[in-house]
Amino acid sequence: MDLITYLTRIQFGAGALSCLANELEMLGARAPLIITDRGVVAAGLAARVTAMLPGQAPIFDETPGNPTEAAMRLAAAAYVREACDSIVAIGGGSSIDLAKAVALIVSHPEPLAQYAAILGGGARITAAMPPVIAIPTTAGTGSEVGRAALITLDDGRKLGFISPHLIPNVAICDPELTLGLPPLLTAATGMDAISHCIETFLSPRFNPPADAIALDGLSRAVRWLPQAVSDGANLTARSEMMMAALQGGMCFQKGLGAVHAMSHPLGGLETPRLHHGTLNAVIMPAVLRMNAAYAEAKYARLRAAIGLEPEGDVAAFVADLNRSLGLPASLAAMGVPADCLPRMIEGAIRDHSSATNPRPLTAADYETLFRQAMEG
Ligand SMILES: [Zn+2]
Repeated sequence: MDLITYLTRIQFGAGALSCLANELEMLGARAPLIITDRGVVAAGLAARVTAMLPGQAPIFDETPGNPTEAAMRLAAAAYVREACDSIVAIGGGSSIDLAKAVALIVSHPEPLAQYAAILGGGARITAAMPPVIAIPTTAGTGSEVGRAALITLDDGRKLGFISPHLIPNVAICDPELTLGLPPLLTAATGMDAISHCIETFLSPRFNPPADAIALDGLSRAVRWLPQAVSDGANLTARSEMMMAALQGGMCFQKGLGAVHAMSHPLGGLETPRLHHGTLNAVIMPAVLRMNAAYAEAKYARLRAAIGLEPEGDVAAFVADLNRSLGLPASLAAMGVPADCLPRMIEGAIRDHSSATNPRPLTAADYETLFRQAMEG
């Protein structure tokens, strides 16, 4: 039996931000906490959002690059102190994931760890959550329509929290907010969207609607990402990438795969701090090579979606795309130390995304993948 669910309220398009006050009102929300990060504030984007609100809203802007349980506690304290009744998340996946965790912990008993997917916590997450509106300022994570939040716990584990109740009530996707995103961050977040579409499509679960969305998102992203990177002011390219990211987020309920299973523990490292999308971009070629023989018919459809010849090499295409976008070629080039790999292999095996990789992977397989990704 397969669970297939699709219904998320999305306001999409240039100027969509103007819907915010109305959307809050429709949710009965009067006192939102704004959750964002300092970069979004410095870029003036938080001010553009708060200008749409009828009154003053408290702002929590201390979201770290990879959201942590400690940041969640600080934001939750602000939520309670300011008597908030809802959350507006503005930013990339980190701010949106943090907002989901805050919504969870202000409405459910602590500790957070008991709700982690791999600990069977999904069933403990109920509908008793305050409303969340997600406003992405990058085109990549798809967290604005996703049911997962990735949080690094106090003990260093980066765990996934997964429940339909974590899906934001409304996503406001306004590509104008991404016009100023720097080229490298555009590239890295765009490759995250591409990894969502590819991994979801290759997941063995049965969900043809997700497959169709994934292939459409993939075509859109490979067509428009180079332009969004080289000409950031191009609103069409930005809009197409925001749609591709949204599509990646809509379909990854079908499950991801080894790319994310490997990037999650790496993203939990204290040092170096590693960007999720960049990690996925760098890891993807090795995983695509290892999975090829296990999903041949699907690789033919991937080739068609990205415009490759029938004999084309999907892994080489992704590696070339990374290079042309100025992304690093290997984990070593990102500064990943070789001595952390045994711990990363452990983390990858236990990660919730590993179960839906088309080829079942052993510790030895993950070791091969990490070594290849280290070398590029
Ligand atoms: Zn991702």
